[in-house]
Amino acid sequence: MGKRYVYFFGEGKADGSAAMKNLLGGKGANLAEMTNLGIPVPPGFTISTEVCTYFYHNKGIYPPGLEQEVEQALRRLENIMGRGFGDKEKPLLVSVRSGAAISMPGMMDTVLNLGLNDETVQGLARETNDSRFAYDCYRRFLSMYGDVVLGLKAESVDGIDPFEEIIDELKKARGVQYDNQLSAQDLMELCERYKALVRQRTGKDFPQDPKEQLWGAIGAVFGSWDNPRAIAYRQIHEIPDDMGTAVNVQSMVFGNMGDDCATGVAFTRNPATGENVLYGEYLVNAQGEDVVAGIRTPQPINIRQKTDPQMVSLEEAMPEAYAELDRIRRILDRHYRDMQDIEFTIQRRKLWMLQTRTGKRTGFAAFKIAVDMVREGILTPKEALLRVEPNQLNQLLRPVFDAEAKQKAVASKAFLAKGLNAGPGAASGRVVFNAVDAEHWADRGEKVILVRLETSPDDIRGMHAAQGILTSRGGMTSHAALVARQMGKVCVVGCGDLEIDYKLRQMTVNGRVIEEGDWISVDGSTGEVFAGQIPTRPSEIIQVLLEKTLKPEESSIFQDYTELMRWADAYRRLGVRTNADQPDQAQTALLFGAEGIGLCRTEHMFFEGERIHAVREMILADSTEGREKALAKLLPMQREDFKGIFRVMKGLPVTIRTLDPPLHEFLPTEEADIQKVAEQLGVGAEQVRAKIQALHEANPMLGHRGCRLGIVYPEITAMQARAILEAACEVKKEGIDVHPEIMIPLVGDVAELAHQKRVVDDVARQVMDHYGIQVDYAVGTMIEVPRGAITAGEIAKEAMFFSFGTNDLTQTVFGISRDDAAKFLHDYLEKKIWEFDPFERIDQEGVGELMKMGVERGRATRPDLKVGICGEHGGEPSSVEFCHQIGLNYVSCSPFRVPIARLAAAHAAIREQ
Ligand code: PEP
Ligand code: MG
Repeated sequence: MGKRYVYFFGEGKADGSAAMKNLLGGKGANLAEMTNLGIPVPPGFTISTEVCTYFYHNKGIYPPGLEQEVEQALRRLENIMGRGFGDKEKPLLVSVRSGAAISMPGMMDTVLNLGLNDETVQGLARETNDSRFAYDCYRRFLSMYGDVVLGLKAESVDGIDPFEEIIDELKKARGVQYDNQLSAQDLMELCERYKALVRQRTGKDFPQDPKEQLWGAIGAVFGSWDNPRAIAYRQIHEIPDDMGTAVNVQSMVFGNMGDDCATGVAFTRNPATGENVLYGEYLVNAQGEDVVAGIRTPQPINIRQKTDPQMVSLEEAMPEAYAELDRIRRILDRHYRDMQDIEFTIQRRKLWMLQTRTGKRTGFAAFKIAVDMVREGILTPKEALLRVEPNQLNQLLRPVFDAEAKQKAVASKAFLAKGLNAGPGAASGRVVFNAVDAEHWADRGEKVILVRLETSPDDIRGMHAAQGILTSRGGMTSHAALVARQMGKVCVVGCGDLEIDYKLRQMTVNGRVIEEGDWISVDGSTGEVFAGQIPTRPSEIIQVLLEKTLKPEESSIFQDYTELMRWADAYRRLGVRTNADQPDQAQTALLFGAEGIGLCRTEHMFFEGERIHAVREMILADSTEGREKALAKLLPMQREDFKGIFRVMKGLPVTIRTLDPPLHEFLPTEEADIQKVAEQLGVGAEQVRAKIQALHEANPMLGHRGCRLGIVYPEITAMQARAILEAACEVKKEGIDVHPEIMIPLVGDVAELAHQKRVVDDVARQVMDHYGIQVDYAVGTMIEVPRGAITAGEIAKEAMFFSFGTNDLTQTVFGISRDDAAKFLHDYLEKKIWEFDPFERIDQEGVGELMKMGVERGRATRPDLKVGICGEHGGEPSSVEFCHQIGLNYVSCSPFRVPIARLAAAHAAIREQ
């Protein structure tokens, strides 16, 4: 026996199983699994992904033995179905679909009703006594095969489907709106026109031999693995190119045999909200792609899903089939232990399952489903944690429209239309009608809403650039809806009241004209669309936690969030702190679960109110006395700042960094401002200008900044140390515990730190003596230049803690200015020089190696050295995981990323087990 390439499924038994995804693709593996579960699945077979790989390695040739295997499988299928492939009386019809291991929505193609030709179509008509049905199948087959296998749609320059044009013409001529209003005679005529089109375009007759059709379709599926859309999708989602797709050949069941037939797509839970109900859409008397193609507006599956009394749900139209579907959705949801995205067809009231796969969902739904599944006993907390991507928590914190502003918008007749709520959240932006414009406008800093009839994979970049996406066609499972959910975009689809005119760059909504560039607001949670800009309001979690406008018990979202975070905290070992410069920021972070402040950038305090004058006075002073005089004015202000922060943090560690940026950042650049500063300080503008000139540096980020400032002007460090310690003593006197950690920036040599430490320690002694209070303070350093990491063993002799400043460390390890990287970053990513932006995600091989070295060498000197990170990477999930792996004590990130870091830290700990 040679290698096996074909795997059969049917009659309650399958050669494959769900575990064989890499070999059978997701679709094939799950068809096998469902068959084994006893769920009604039309029989068929899967040609493995190994054939695809072989096909590509051998210039489009199939492996030996494949043909016989396919023949055998076909025979078996014929026997089960009691029909013959190409049989004139009882023709066997099959579908041919692609199916890669990772689902790639909209990328690959499907051919239905394969096996029809001029003769078998008559047999089908006789057998069913329904020539309308038979020719409906035939015309669908002709156009799908023409598009997918013969490539007629891809050939058309304008992207218009030539078969669509013909059918639209015919519908117009017959004065009908929908395909299903065409008569049998019309459909026959359509088939003739389609065949003529094929002849005209390809110079050949449409293939009549079912075998030739089958191999043509199989070849097209394998070929489509390398079409530009598929390649682009793989690039965006980082799917390896050599994975390959399988091909599924399955006997047809028909949803278009009459009004007791239907086809639909559904989710075992609501993919937008996560609610545990069957959710989806269907169409009566329709086939396959009709539901997602957005040609007829699909009807809801559930009664409760209806938004309009005119709709007819499947629950009402075919209650038995609905009950069966609901029964199967529960089986699948439990069996796979995850929300499934399912496809089904009802042929003469009998339900057939055509597909199941893990469904895409909003971050919101991911979170709710995970928590619910623990309560339902399906998942353990540990599994539930892994089901939520840390960044998906962003969606929980996302704004919604301000209720009052929205009411006002309604009252002022700003309401335009309502569609389906495909991606929750609220977004306002200016209307653009194509993806390229969306990208361009967004590049200019505009907020845009991308408005399309429907979207296609070509629109992905534009969708990414837009605040929100609005389509006039399609359902919850349309391309726009799927992709938006994955991207976490606000999205409303199927908004049928929009009449979009791409050429005029406008849309008309119930008589109102909205032009390109006009503002609209889209509520992806309710499906509503408004003219103009509506202010947004924070999410429920924010309302409970920060604004206290909602009680915890009034918000189930909040309760679920607390539960998930509780589990995360139970698993994680990494501490999570926050970068905060002000008491209010610290408070926010605390409410999100921060366990301390990892970075307080004192310079941010220098810009507030009157202080900038004192700062400028200090910079412009020519002597130590002059500087000290100015610093004396700053001292009480800084002291108050720190007291505020210490009070909020109630004994949690607070890392305060001494002055870091180059001084010129505090001086004015505009002439008018220079004049003003000169006046305020009572000096000549000349003098200010001269100082600015003197402070000018060719490379300020590598210039006089960080600890170099404190070394040249120790009085600055001394003032800051005094402010910190006096604040600590005074707050301690109030009965609040205080743990300040004084952090010296940009240290590359232990002598730098030793110098600054002496300044701090001297002041600390004086202050503590003065107050008669002992403060548990520590002096440590940032590790943010390579020499700091390399000589960490020495530095740790002086430092009680390290904190990696990965912003500067990335800048200095790469030798790339963090301020100028953006200019070429785009090209680097596009050309795959870099896979990601190293200023966003830690470059583990380069920067990460230095971090490891820093940790190891530092702890070799001081085993209890506390090590953290306070660069932007501290809130990025993959970087958090890395920090866990190299043994950091904590990460520190911006307040709104604290929950994300907590979850990422839990993931890291769980994955390590
Ligand atoms: C860093 O360099 O990573 C850091 C936290 O400091 P800053 O961004 O203020 O330079
Ligand atoms: Mg820095």
